[in-house]
Amino acid sequence: MHTEQTFAIIKPDAVAAGNSGKIITMIEDSGFTIAALKKVHLTRDQAAGFYAVHSERPFFNDLLNFMTSGPAVLMILEKEGAIRAWRDLMGPTNSNEAPKGTVRGEFGTNIEKNASHGSDAPETAAFETAYFFSCFERV
Ligand code: ATP
Ligand code: MG
Repeated sequence: MHTEQTFAIIKPDAVAAGNSGKIITMIEDSGFTIAALKKVHLTRDQAAGFYAVHSERPFFNDLLNFMTSGPAVLMILEKEGAIRAWRDLMGPTNSNEAPKGTVRGEFGTNIEKNASHGSDAPETAAFETAYFFSCFERV
């Protein structure tokens, strides 16, 4: 294990519900350092580029509608084993299956409106952090 960075989003459902502060508290209480943070209302093109891997999936159009429905909070999180640790703290994709104590279990609604995003591998973490943050925006 080594200090690692991952990319996180507090999705528009959780921001609109007023839960971003609680999620950031969970993140900090779990020992992550927030290396970068900004609140952004994604454009459709930005969301489509970010989720390009899902462009052929039946839920892609709904996913873009959801991700552009309001502002989101974008973050780079740092910790030993951050990629795995943030996925564990989020819980499974489907909020209905996510245990209490996880971000998706506490603040998500269903398989789509699931409160948060996390990179799933070192390659996606590198792509996603660079997609949204320049080197001057990271501490
Ligand atoms: P994320 O990439 O956002 O961290 P994930 O890696 O757990 O989530 P993916 O399979 O990458 O899950 O799906 C990306 C996002 O698309 C999900 O977080 C969810 O918002 C949405 N999604 C996934 N599957 C479905 C589905 N079957 N129906 C509707 N929306 C879905
Ligand atoms: Mg994913």
